[in-house]
Amino acid sequence: MTSRAPGPPGARLVPGTVGDLTPHVGDWLLPVSGDRLGMPTAVTEPTADLLYVGEFDGRSAWAAESPEATLRWPELAQHLDRATLALAGRAQQLVAWKRTHRYCGACRAELGYEPPYPWPRCTACGLLVPMAPCPVVLVLIRRDDRVLLARHSYAHSDMWALVAGYVEYGETLEEAARREVWEEVGVEIDDLSYVDSQPWTLSGPGTLLVGFTARWVAGEPTVDGVELTAAEWFPVADLPDAVPPEYSLARWMLDAARESAPR
Ligand SMILES: [Zn+2]
Repeated sequence: MTSRAPGPPGARLVPGTVGDLTPHVGDWLLPVSGDRLGMPTAVTEPTADLLYVGEFDGRSAWAAESPEATLRWPELAQHLDRATLALAGRAQQLVAWKRTHRYCGACRAELGYEPPYPWPRCTACGLLVPMAPCPVVLVLIRRDDRVLLARHSYAHSDMWALVAGYVEYGETLEEAARREVWEEVGVEIDDLSYVDSQPWTLSGPGTLLVGFTARWVAGEPTVDGVELTAAEWFPVADLPDAVPPEYSLARWMLDAARESAPR
């Protein structure tokens, strides 16, 4: 369905697998520093502050704060296959989660971590603080042989992207997709169909992109000029050059649409 590049044979990320949870020399080490990442290396010094990320290619993988992390996620994406990139993204999200979840929201005591479970528990009242994924719907809207692309005012403002937005409490994914599309570009859609999902570390810890295709029903695209600066129909066989990067779900969906277009 999608044209993503597969990872190397046998490569797999198994988050939270309960294996041998003592770091060993030679295990995977994922360096993290704020929004920066480093190429996966080997653990040379197994210390207690390594954060368990999962199992990868039969070895345990650990995240650690390190000055060797100098690359942003998109830069790292140029060097890594999809599976390894997912591992690095998870490492970054776990480190960010731990940095921003230090105290109990109920009693203010310190939170404690017990590997392999990445989520903390309060050391005083026992409250469990699970990591809540934060779903964002991503919608590829088709109108015959055209797709709707939009430009955002923030970051990469020259890129033609898909309509996207956060799911709110009480909404289904489909309801969120319909609402976001209506709010952002004033278009009604139908025939929503789930395509794929992708954890997206660039938007903060926990962001999970959920991709849908949809059929245009009514309305001409309009934008508010604040969040979105443009929204236009493009022939699926003739998309603009500035579309989302190769490692993104939006791109996989656009590539799949392009491949299915009549020539
Ligand atoms: Zn507590």
